[in-house]
Amino acid sequence: MAVHLPVVVIVGRPNVGKSTLFNRLVGKRIAVVEDTPGITRDRLYAMVEWQGKRFHLVDTGGIVFQDEDPLAEQIRIQAGVALAEADVILFLADAKAGLSADDWELAQQFRGSKVPVLVVVNKADNADRDALANEFYALGIGDVYPVSGLQGRGVADLLDVVVEMLPEVKKDDIPEKEEIRVAIIGRPNVGKSSMVNAFTGEQRMIVSNIAGTTRDSIDTVIEHAGETFRLIDTAGIRRRGKIQGTVEYYMVNRAQKAIERADCAMIVVDGNEGLTDGDKRIMKIAHDAGKACVFAINKWDIKEPPDGMPRKMSILKKDMIKVIRDEIPELLYAKIAFTSAKESAGLEPVLDEVLRAQEAYSFRVSTGQLNRLIGEAVFARPYSSKGRVLKIYYATQVQTRPPTFVMFCNDVELFHFSYERYLLNKIREAFPLEGTPVRIWARASHKDKDKDKKQ
Ligand code: GDP
Ligand code: GDP
Repeated sequence: MAVHLPVVVIVGRPNVGKSTLFNRLVGKRIAVVEDTPGITRDRLYAMVEWQGKRFHLVDTGGIVFQDEDPLAEQIRIQAGVALAEADVILFLADAKAGLSADDWELAQQFRGSKVPVLVVVNKADNADRDALANEFYALGIGDVYPVSGLQGRGVADLLDVVVEMLPEVKKDDIPEKEEIRVAIIGRPNVGKSSMVNAFTGEQRMIVSNIAGTTRDSIDTVIEHAGETFRLIDTAGIRRRGKIQGTVEYYMVNRAQKAIERADCAMIVVDGNEGLTDGDKRIMKIAHDAGKACVFAINKWDIKEPPDGMPRKMSILKKDMIKVIRDEIPELLYAKIAFTSAKESAGLEPVLDEVLRAQEAYSFRVSTGQLNRLIGEAVFARPYSSKGRVLKIYYATQVQTRPPTFVMFCNDVELFHFSYERYLLNKIREAFPLEGTPVRIWARASHKDKDKDKKQ
């Protein structure tokens, strides 16, 4: 998994010296400036190394605004980017100009934020100016650090403080060797316990062909392809429901419980019976949970001779895939594997798919790569409505598990569903995201206009 560096974001009204400080911080210590052909955002992201610690520096002054974008809007976008991305925020102000209304406006955005904010007062070219910097304590958001981006005064001290505050790793980074938690879900009798038994190669659980036989959910740990999988089995339906609704209730309830603990849902379907409404309800649960997802179309031996269950697509398989794609379009991202628990066939391929889906679920893209992609996508197909053009100033991945992207734009109303779909497709084309849901949030300056949509 790619190492995700901590992020330090510079914010501040125009002309306080963001670009100058950015260049100074990146300056000779620069390791890599991500190259962004076609888009003039060279000063937006860079990697900085100080005392052996590395971080990504983002200069919100490098976000390209148009002339007609109001300053208040720009300030809110900057703050939004900082709050979404930063591990440390450098709030840049100007000692020469003193405290301004725009500083207050920006400070307002950070009140109550959990991200540490350092008030960096630039243009402190001499000791007299250092004294002027004290005025900025009035903002009440953090300690004040006088620097001169132009001369380099105070910059080393600032960097000492910054690297001290950096987290070791991003909160959502996963150690490389963590077990993969897979919820085996599906209607009663589709073969969930048989699958688990086949995976383990031993009859650890009682398999019965009576739907709803009393069994408890058991975790089983197996190894495959050098990875550890924890199979969370939901076969156990506590009691046989006389009323259809009771069985349904336990089925749904247990599937939900298992999925909560899992990274990936393996949805087992009885391939001989075909897709039923119960299957669809289970699939909906998996989709709503926002976890990685793989289909195991089980009992395929009844449909076709197993002899190793080659991955080759027969007409029967193609038909089954078509039914699933047509009936459950929400889960287009989930791969479909064919299995026979009875014949122990197709089991390794389905685990391979789980592994891929799990990797996709934890996928992370760098801000530079993402902005390049989105910049190109918007350039290739601009969107406007009622004479207003959608502008996406900045894109960032705010989460993994599942990958979640925030697009900072001029107006969320312009971020039309069809355009979101277009960008999602671009993202899916560019990155290995098969098997996982992907989310996009559009965000403008006003919090209450936030949109949180799942795909
Ligand atoms: P930005 O709009 O916040 O990115 O600001 P710039 O980095 O473009 O700087 C705005 C102006 O302030 C430029 O003319 C810089 O030369 C000047 N400036 C930046 N840093 C300093 C500094 O430390 N001292 C002085 N005296 N001027 C500075
Ligand atoms: P669960 O309720 O989903 O855990 O399903 P079980 O594992 O208890 O299986 C239900 C019935 O289906 C049992 O009679 C199994 O022997 C049978 N079964 C399970 N997997 C397969 C398979 O791959 N092929 C065939 N032919 N039968 C299977």
